[in-house]
Amino acid sequence: MVEALNKELFRQAKRYIAGGVNSPIRALRAVNVEPIFIKSALGTKIYSEDGLGFIDYCQSFGALILGHAHPKVIKELNRVSVGGTSFSLPTKLETKLAQFISKAIPSIERIRLTNSGTEAVMSAIRLARAFTKKDKIIKFAGSYHGHADYLLDCPGVPLAFKEQTLVAEFNDIRKVKELIKHNKNNIAAIIVEPVAANMGVVLAQNDFLRSLEKLSKEFNIVLIFDEVITGFRLIFGGAQKLFKIKPDLTCLGKIIGGGLPVGAFGGRKEIMQLLAPEGKVYQAGTFSGNPLTVSAGLNTLKILSKNNYYNSLECLTRYLCEGIKQRSTKYGIKLKINFIGSMFSLFFAEKEVMDYNIAKTQNIGLFKSFYQGLLKQGIYFSPSPFEANFVSTAHTPRDIEKTLKAVDKTFRRMAR
Ligand SMILES: *Cc1c(COP(=O)(O)O)cnc(C)c1O
Repeated sequence: MVEALNKELFRQAKRYIAGGVNSPIRALRAVNVEPIFIKSALGTKIYSEDGLGFIDYCQSFGALILGHAHPKVIKELNRVSVGGTSFSLPTKLETKLAQFISKAIPSIERIRLTNSGTEAVMSAIRLARAFTKKDKIIKFAGSYHGHADYLLDCPGVPLAFKEQTLVAEFNDIRKVKELIKHNKNNIAAIIVEPVAANMGVVLAQNDFLRSLEKLSKEFNIVLIFDEVITGFRLIFGGAQKLFKIKPDLTCLGKIIGGGLPVGAFGGRKEIMQLLAPEGKVYQAGTFSGNPLTVSAGLNTLKILSKNNYYNSLECLTRYLCEGIKQRSTKYGIKLKINFIGSMFSLFFAEKEVMDYNIAKTQNIGLFKSFYQGLLKQGIYFSPSPFEANFVSTAHTPRDIEKTLKAVDKTFRRMAR
């Protein structure tokens, strides 16, 4: 009955929406289940059209660090919306949000808001090219920086674009040095997620980020930290604060919009000054810095700054990850868990996952069984073995206990 409703809603959607979804991962193909149509959400829970509730560990891919529909954020959204939703003229709250971000992330001397992380990354790279007067960029395999042409490799991307993007494995500093050497004087930017979160969670090893910082300085390369996920996720500020690295430019998104569409890029003043209207590098947006996004973002950051949530988030996440690990051992299931702060990923793999190559060795079949087992028991994890999961401030020890119980039951079945 229940599955029938989702199936029917998906059938109707597919008649009008390309593929039935407005972003491909929502089709849930990676885990072989029917897409779930959501009616509403509150705190840790999402509720489907067919009346089921799920404890949500995706939280809009990490955007909702305070959980769904945080009462204070929603109350202010309601208040602000009555006064108009878009002016295409500046408001003073935009300056306030910019100030908040800049104080928390001092490398961001000037910032600009966009409507998505994709836009932020596109513009940061354009700026890096204008600033260095060079063309090529280095990125890391398995990273995701949005869907701009030169950061994707799929049909429709011109070869000429692909040639501008050089790829190294995450954590492989030797390869980066080699790429710099062979493309002397033509690398404009290195773009990196300080904690990789789109090949599953993968931590930077040893001095990897520091070496990137050093190389960037040495060869006049703009170092771009893509902190769309890590910004305000691990600490009040960027991962750069935790790792004590100062990138030239930083991209933000997700959390800073408090659940509304957002992106931002910012950094060194002399680079940001190249942007129009001061400079000649063009970038714009009808809805950029709109009052609703700014309100939700500002209130989210205010709440985060006033409460010391980050320690308890990490404790809860550690408790969950260790609980899952213990149960996998109990049932003889080979599992690696990567986690930092309140983000984590499970890999049904034999080796420690340090890059995309190793991430790809995980057993996808096992992941699907695990995923479907949890879903049946009302637990919603991010729907791919290459995505991160997130604990929000709304999650309680009871949610975690419930999740661990479901994990136990699922592993028991898988081990049979
Ligand atoms: C989500 C994400 C993006 C893209 O942001 P959108 O708002 O989806 O365009 C870019 N970089 C990283 C690291 C992301 O996780």
